[in-house]
Amino acid sequence: MSLEVHIGLLWDEPAIRGEFAGEFLVRCRVDCCRFLTLDETAGAFEAFSEPGRRQHDYAIRLCESLSPAHAERTLSEPKELAQKFDVDIVEAGRTWESGGQQFDIRVWWPIVKLDSLSDAEKTLDELRAMPGLDPLGLALVRLDRAVPDLPFEFRFGSFSGRALEIWTTPLSPESFFRLHDVPIGRGFHWQRKESLDYRGSLRLFHPGGAGLSAVNRLELESYLESAVGSEMRSDLPAAFSQAQAIAARSTVLATANRHHFADGFDLCHDDHCQCYQGILREADAVVAPIRESSGIILVSPLSTPLNPPTKWRETGAHSRAALPNDASSFIVHRSSLPRVVDARYAKSCGGVSERYEAAWGGEGPDYFTVRACGEFSVPDLSREDSAREFLKSDSPAWCNPRLHPYPDPWDKDPLFRWTFEYTRKELGDLIAEKTGHDVGRVQELNAIRRGKSGRILILEIVGEAGTQHIYGELNIRRALSKSHLPSSFFVVDERADRIILSGGGWGHGVGLCQLGAAAMARAGWNVESILNHYYPRTELMNL
Ligand SMILES: [Zn+2]
Ligand SMILES: [Zn+2]
Repeated sequence: MSLEVHIGLLWDEPAIRGEFAGEFLVRCRVDCCRFLTLDETAGAFEAFSEPGRRQHDYAIRLCESLSPAHAERTLSEPKELAQKFDVDIVEAGRTWESGGQQFDIRVWWPIVKLDSLSDAEKTLDELRAMPGLDPLGLALVRLDRAVPDLPFEFRFGSFSGRALEIWTTPLSPESFFRLHDVPIGRGFHWQRKESLDYRGSLRLFHPGGAGLSAVNRLELESYLESAVGSEMRSDLPAAFSQAQAIAARSTVLATANRHHFADGFDLCHDDHCQCYQGILREADAVVAPIRESSGIILVSPLSTPLNPPTKWRETGAHSRAALPNDASSFIVHRSSLPRVVDARYAKSCGGVSERYEAAWGGEGPDYFTVRACGEFSVPDLSREDSAREFLKSDSPAWCNPRLHPYPDPWDKDPLFRWTFEYTRKELGDLIAEKTGHDVGRVQELNAIRRGKSGRILILEIVGEAGTQHIYGELNIRRALSKSHLPSSFFVVDERADRIILSGGGWGHGVGLCQLGAAAMARAGWNVESILNHYYPRTELMNL
């Protein structure tokens, strides 16, 4: 097994600085057909460039579909959609091959094309108002692929000149490269910049937009040792680290070329995809469970993945959507390819997990269910009174720190139950700052739709100066806090001039609950039982 991943480390940067340590082969593409191998093999480098003027190709993605048939259905209903907008279907994700086995993790995006980015807000509003269209999956996406587009200045050793692309190959296992000023935690309150060291290859290019990109290509296992290691800790049982490693390995394979479809890499290095801080600084105790589970992934063999109709295969990613009344477009070919599980996880589920569709709309895999984080039953929490009762009670969940104390330093944050309190003016000001919509002093917050796990999916904000709807758990979390509210699983209380949010969990709540899994591992559960609990109907498989 030798799978490689492409991790985006920097993008839209006016300058990138770093150094090569050990020995590297440094190749420079000067223009479309001239290549140079530079003399130096180690030392400091710098690259800098002006912003480009490339016009990007944007669209509103209606959702992600696991089959082209679902994408077609999404475009055919409501009828008004295809009549009013220029629609299409784009293939994202990719297939992988390992040991003669192919894994199909493609997804299909039903999209509405945009003439320019400035149409996005207006089109989003129109789509949200369209009866019969689920607003939860709507997202702005860029479709044009990032390829080397503009030359940039590159200095390394005795070389100084214009380059269209730089790529490097390490010449010894000890070789690593260092990048300066890598942002960590973009958009979160802990954002900072660090110099970080990485194994594998480095690629530098200017995709023509705001600035330069740096992409790290390395072996999947080497990536996981660092990525899982930097999130995990050596003082937890191996079953937990193994479950985490298997989930992370599966998710990497399942989400490559989806979140960063247009960026020229599979995943980014930040919390957005999976936190990856280069060469591991952790003890061997963290790496050991990852190596023990090397190559093991979760697959969903019981679902039958659907291959695209032949016409899309032939015409490629940007083919036109078939007309809704074209019966042949609904013919699908069953495939025996296993589908790698998109094994999402979040820090704490607050006692109950959520379905994929509730968080991201579209077509969710059947292994994401609304499920108690423990041996108890949970009623339908989409009702306001049930959600309130559940949040104000003390459920016997694995992630409840009163029953299963969190390891340090997680015990510093209230992750299972929390409250946020604002004055009406403070909250109005915050919402104006975060969403750009000034509703004035907040009078009411209403959950228009909750998922069955109680998470708010559509929130209505009633203010003195207007009413605003927020769609999707992540947007709700962003709108109601300086950085991110821990989750959208909360109820609202009012006390005179104050609005109090009482909530549970940290994260989207889909898939594995990290704190719950840690407690299960400490109680002696093995890796398979932990994964079966959070991803029912899936199986382990060796790559
Ligand atoms: Zn990302
Ligand atoms: Zn939990």
